[in-house]
Amino acid sequence: MIDSTPTALPDPPPALGLERNVSLARHTYLRIGGLAAYFATPPDIDTLIRIWVWARSHEIPLRIIGGGSNMLVADEGVRAVVVSLRRACGSFEFRGAEVRAGASVMLPALAKAAAERGLGGLEFAIGLPGEIGGAMQTNAGIGDGRSIGDLVTSVEVLRDGVPVTLARAQVAFDYRHTSLRAARELVLGATLALTPRPRDEIEAEMRRLLATRQATQPTAEPNAGSVFRNPPGDSAGRMIESVGGKEIASGSVHVSTLHANFIVHDGHGTAAQYLSVMGEVQRRVLATYGVRLVPEIEWWGDGPAPEVFQ
Ligand SMILES: Cc1cc2nc3c(=O)[nH]c(=O)nc-3n(C[C@H](O)[C@H](O)[C@H](O)COP(=O)(O)OP(=O)(O)OC[C@H]3O[C@@H](n4cnc5c(N)ncnc54)[C@H](O)[C@@H]3O)c2cc1C
Repeated sequence: MIDSTPTALPDPPPALGLERNVSLARHTYLRIGGLAAYFATPPDIDTLIRIWVWARSHEIPLRIIGGGSNMLVADEGVRAVVVSLRRACGSFEFRGAEVRAGASVMLPALAKAAAERGLGGLEFAIGLPGEIGGAMQTNAGIGDGRSIGDLVTSVEVLRDGVPVTLARAQVAFDYRHTSLRAARELVLGATLALTPRPRDEIEAEMRRLLATRQATQPTAEPNAGSVFRNPPGDSAGRMIESVGGKEIASGSVHVSTLHANFIVHDGHGTAAQYLSVMGEVQRRVLATYGVRLVPEIEWWGDGPAPEVFQ
């Protein structure tokens, strides 16, 4: 007889401050997802390193959650130690036209702080609900080609439990992808080079960018931003709309009627429903254009990724 009892998870030392069975729906922009087996918000890097050592010694994966704005978490949750760097890496410091920002600094907050100091470059980031650490994974940017990678002068990572600083030349930034993501680096922070610019000009541009987002994105409904990457030379939103994508729904989840590359829900959606809508979108676009849309959002779950993410 096969024993199907799941392996019991170990009790961590109380000093590590790990909580058990924490809802990830509360920590994601999409408001979907099951429980993290463990969740931690370490107060400093030393505690982060001790958590990393403990997780490794028990062969439990460690995952960093940033703003939670670029992920879909399984309804079953994840058997992992999920760590927020909010307390350990949540500060920033300006030195002349440079800023060194901890991994957990939110992009809009940093863009506003730069504007107050008359420093431009981060205007494009005003409407991006992610953190510096998440942006280093996805090379966050906007449609006109501006992205965070253009500003980076160095990145700090925790490599094998040791903080290491990587020069810009050691990191590759591509369209919504970086070598940091490929190497599964744990990002502690980054230094960005900004450019002096009159504050009123910066703020006017940020207001324009925010107004465009308000008009074109379903900001009032839980969503995960653009779900699929744009195929070379085309727009995923245009393709989805042209195949009648805006009528696709499953339970509480549906393609946004405002922007076809956004999939939203009414607050009661599940990951299973979300996957079903993504799958139907992917099938229709493939059938019409012969193009298999690749998700921009990331899947968080145990075991093999669902088909739409493969
Ligand atoms: C409404 C909306 C609009 C958006 N608009 C845009 C847009 O215009 N352009 C754009 O590029 N993106 C956009 N996004 C997507 C998203 O905001 C970005 O991809 C952002 O950079 C993700 O950051 P995050 O902190 O939320 O990452 P998360 O979603 O928390 O994490 C994403 C991945 O990064 C990893 N990660 C996070 N922090 C770290 C770290 N410190 N070290 C190692 N790994 C880490 C996570 O483990 C996960 O694998 C949008 C999202 C939403 C919801």
